Amino acid sequence: MIPLIKPNPPRLSEAAAMLRQIENSGLFSNFGPVNTQFEESLVARMFGGTGACLTVCNATIGLMLAVQLVCENRASRRKYALMPSFTFAAAAQAALWCGLTPLFCDIDPQSWAASAEAEDELLRRYRDQIAVVMPYATFGYDIDLNRYARIQAELGIPVVVDAAASLGTVSAHGHGFGTGYPGAVVFSMHATKSFAAAEGGVIYSADVALIARLRAMSNFGFGQPRTATMLGLNAKLSEVGALLALLKLDGYEHVVASRGAIVERYRETLPGLQFQAAPPRHQVHQFAPVLLPRALAPRRDDVQAVLKTSGIGMATYFSPHLAEQPFFTGKSRKGPLEVTRDVAARIISLPVYDEMTLGDADEVAERLGTTIRAMEQAASHAAPSRQRGYRPQFPVAPAIYTTIAAG
Ligand SMILES: *Cc1c(COP(=O)(O)O)cnc(C)c1O
Repeated sequence: MIPLIKPNPPRLSEAAAMLRQIENSGLFSNFGPVNTQFEESLVARMFGGTGACLTVCNATIGLMLAVQLVCENRASRRKYALMPSFTFAAAAQAALWCGLTPLFCDIDPQSWAASAEAEDELLRRYRDQIAVVMPYATFGYDIDLNRYARIQAELGIPVVVDAAASLGTVSAHGHGFGTGYPGAVVFSMHATKSFAAAEGGVIYSADVALIARLRAMSNFGFGQPRTATMLGLNAKLSEVGALLALLKLDGYEHVVASRGAIVERYRETLPGLQFQAAPPRHQVHQFAPVLLPRALAPRRDDVQAVLKTSGIGMATYFSPHLAEQPFFTGKSRKGPLEVTRDVAARIISLPVYDEMTLGDADEVAERLGTTIRAMEQAASHAAPSRQRGYRPQFPVAPAIYTTIAAG
């Protein structure tokens, strides 16, 4: 069995002494000592000791808090939350909870993150109606945060970064993704993410005052002792949750490295498939997304079924993309989504987990490669008149065809 994801939060059963310490302290939540230690360790170890972190009970609530805060004094005509359609439902849900209307933009064909051109086009078209820009650091990709700092500074439109899968990504500057960024960057610690701590999230910002306000918001809006001074809710992480997060920090760089090695192996063994563009430094991988050849997109379910019979897990993040999900249809607007449609129709997510071996990756690649080859051969037999002049109509590296011919 090679599942898509194998959650690996720290083993609480092996941390009895630390659990007992929490019990003896009598402090179970409300930014207790374990939570403080985690927040400070995270800033020191991942964010070069600059800025501040706030833990939250999950990243979706974290997004809601950050969006609500930066939109606090928005003009009523500013009703849109600009985000890629190729992301997780949580981003659109957070915008809706804040009374905003998601405005979906297209993605870049290489990074699969919001395309700068698509964003700029919608920023021009809806300029004084956009309340917030919500880019997604797609699958842990190191998106260009300087661009978003410029949008915020030059257009005065706030930005909240959905970096749910990015805890562990190291940017070109050598520190964790988000380091030095003056707006809110929201990470998830859900069991299925690489930084697995059951449930939980982290908001980072270089702006310490922003984190302080978010902290008050996350604690019933108590800007003063027991006195609400702003809209708030309860978004706190428990001390046991913080302990899971603190323990996950130990040796986490090895988790990032071994997951990176699995994706590297897929790149080597599946050279004909299109992978996400590789960022300059380390990217943390929750799973390995790749695009099927265009001709096989309609057979994606069959590919999944074949892998399943071999005990291999596969998923299709993010398909359907947000603009395709009926619930969002009447509650959102969208720009052109050509690349999103193409990528979402072809994408498959391959297994990556902490203890996965290169041998496991080889098994997945072998099974997938064989399946693709068989399906392409069957397609060419089914249409013999087209077989002779068969030329791929899509930008897939030729190596897969060599493999197909050789097999
Ligand atoms: C996982 C995920 C979230 C939600 O994180 P939770 O901590 O589970 O709330 C939000 N956005 C994206 C892109 C995600 O992948």
